[in-house]
Amino acid sequence: MISLANVDISELKDAGKMIDMSGQIDPEEKHTALLLKDSKLLVKKQIDFRMKLEGMGYGRIELSGWLQTEVSLQCCRCLEWFDYSLERDFIVDYHSAVSESTAGEKDTESLGSVEITEDDIYVNNYTGDTLNILEEYCSQLILALPMVPRCRDGCKGLCSQCGQNLNVKECNCVSAQMFEREGKLSAIGLHLP
Ligand SMILES: [Zn+2]
Ligand SMILES: [Zn+2]
Repeated sequence: MISLANVDISELKDAGKMIDMSGQIDPEEKHTALLLKDSKLLVKKQIDFRMKLEGMGYGRIELSGWLQTEVSLQCCRCLEWFDYSLERDFIVDYHSAVSESTAGEKDTESLGSVEITEDDIYVNNYTGDTLNILEEYCSQLILALPMVPRCRDGCKGLCSQCGQNLNVKECNCVSAQMFEREGKLSAIGLHLP
């Protein structure tokens, strides 16, 4: 098994050459842990991955990647921690920093996958004979996180007065507000159904 932090791409600089592999990334392995450290993300299991690296010619290398794992996130409404399964497809286009002349070339090739939108295509430069694919997978894992994590659809959040988690049980503040509202309504001659 080759190290993802140090993938030898010397064979891939010509068109048509390919490295195709899949496996698992251990989130607790020291290189990976270091890359994920700033995100303070709690990854709960091994990260399944697939990787296809393909030489496109002129030093261009295309990475088609996929990853899947489970993380622990804090709900932005009720602040409870919950498990979240994430999966991501992405494409990274690596350009050799020495072949600048081809960097601005218009890419008219089909990407072969309709599921990946242009937003999921990234361009990186590289020098030398190795690529740090591990770094890319860690970045992509962070990109796969929801902007606003919610434990469930329609999470009721916390009571703004007593802090009770309203998914667990209703608190008296809510009823008190209700009674107050009903009182006001009956005072002006209206009745709630
Ligand atoms: Zn919640
Ligand atoms: Zn309350």
